[in-house]
Amino acid sequence: MLRAANRLFVAGKNSAWIRCLSSVPQTKPEVHFNKIFINNEWHNAVSGKTFPTINPATEEIICDVAEADKADVELAVQAARSAFAFGSPWRTMDASTRGRLLSKLADLIERDQNYLASLETLDNGKPYSISIAVDLQMVIKCLRYYAGWADKIEGKTIPVDGDFFCYTRQEPVGVCGQIIPWNFPLLMLAWKLGPALATGNTVVMKVAEQTPLTALYIAQLAVEAGYPPGVLNILPGYGPTAGAAIAEHMDVDKVAFTGSTEVGHMIQQAAGRSNLKKVTLELGGKSPNIILKDCDLEEAVEQSHFGLFFNMGQCCTAGSRTFVEDDIYDDFVELSAERAKKRTVGDPFNESNEQGPQIDEEQFTRILGLIESGKKEGATLLAGGERAGDRGYFIQPTVFGDVQDDMRIAKEEIFGPVQQLLRFKKLDEAIERANKTSYGLAAGVMTKDIEKALHIANGVRAGTVWINCYDVFDIAIPFGGYKMSGTGREKGEAALDSYLETKSVIVRTPQKNS
Ligand code: ADP
Repeated sequence: MLRAANRLFVAGKNSAWIRCLSSVPQTKPEVHFNKIFINNEWHNAVSGKTFPTINPATEEIICDVAEADKADVELAVQAARSAFAFGSPWRTMDASTRGRLLSKLADLIERDQNYLASLETLDNGKPYSISIAVDLQMVIKCLRYYAGWADKIEGKTIPVDGDFFCYTRQEPVGVCGQIIPWNFPLLMLAWKLGPALATGNTVVMKVAEQTPLTALYIAQLAVEAGYPPGVLNILPGYGPTAGAAIAEHMDVDKVAFTGSTEVGHMIQQAAGRSNLKKVTLELGGKSPNIILKDCDLEEAVEQSHFGLFFNMGQCCTAGSRTFVEDDIYDDFVELSAERAKKRTVGDPFNESNEQGPQIDEEQFTRILGLIESGKKEGATLLAGGERAGDRGYFIQPTVFGDVQDDMRIAKEEIFGPVQQLLRFKKLDEAIERANKTSYGLAAGVMTKDIEKALHIANGVRAGTVWINCYDVFDIAIPFGGYKMSGTGREKGEAALDSYLETKSVIVRTPQKNS
């Protein structure tokens, strides 16, 4: 099953795989938890305020959720600090037991995966077939992967000059603030919780205001798994209030953020203004996908379609600048437009739909505005270009040809189902234009010529390069951005580094016979 899910994520086109994996969704999953989770207990907001969470497919309110603000962040940080106290149950827990807790959490998520996938689809709008076959499987794999690391965090012994014995300890950083976005609510939670908990930190997580529900259910599963109170605290709330309170907090040792580059700036500034907490950022992108004339054309069209339209285009890695070599440009454009027109859009609980709604009205309006700018600036509209239907935040799969580097749609992150096709003539021209952006998250190359592929892979300034594939996200692969796409790495062994401090211990060992 897991292999199948990965294969789906690699291929992107094989909807048969999705169908055989999807179990029957619960189209009206009951919401069990809608409060703030601190110290293994549920709390109303100190202010008593709540906010609605909306079903993006219908624009209807699913339920109201407690709205955490600064005062709630304060309580959560206190709980996390107490749980991290020297000698506390969490600090004295065997590393192997920490691993078992994380494994247990993965098992509980697996037990409840149908419910969680249904709730994710309700709150986020992504097709249920993707929630269950991709998101949930990757979440479970992620937690199991980091569970395995828990008792393999090792220091070194170092041969120093003189009569000394020197060793290093890898210790947890402390109280970690984690601020996550709405595009992969559960997966972003897992990418952050996995390494933080495996290494023995405590966590204050703020979930995105658009998609708070699945994370709150996970909080209750953490209690069932046996996590001590205060180790994991989850707060639903808004960015400028609860999020900013975490970033500015003097007793938070580290903040890990995934979201827009704009907010990334604020997080780093807040850390600088307050206690110089450690910061890791996973931010936006405008990733180039370079298609060479010797590629398998149909495969390249499909991979590029998947690399852009997957998750309604709401991926920071979206291949949103598709550079196509002159000789095959016209054929590629025609096939890409045809493919986009075939993309099925509608009710995310209906298995036949590949695409659900955008997350909210703000994103929906912004994307439509960028589509208008593409039309006005002279790009050729080849497919879509408008909203789909008249209820819910659905947008037609949209393809623009004749896109020029200086158009807004070629420069700004759209975060929607809008594909830009650009023409190039020479390989090094493609690399140079690919790099002409302040982002550097990911890139793709489609070619049968390995030398050209590696030349491009070496030349693009991006944290991940996919050759003849796109969006392959095995948990063992480090992920992060060059330039303004971020700081630090998530996933893989690399993610552990940012949750650990290295302590050097030097012991004097006088020679007995001196
Ligand atoms: P998007 O524009 O895609 O919603 P954001 O960067 O605004 O992306 O949001 C990502 C996460 O950052 C969300 O949890 C959001 O609430 C939070 N956030 C937004 N603004 C701030 C802020 N000023 N400080 C801290 N967190 C914020």
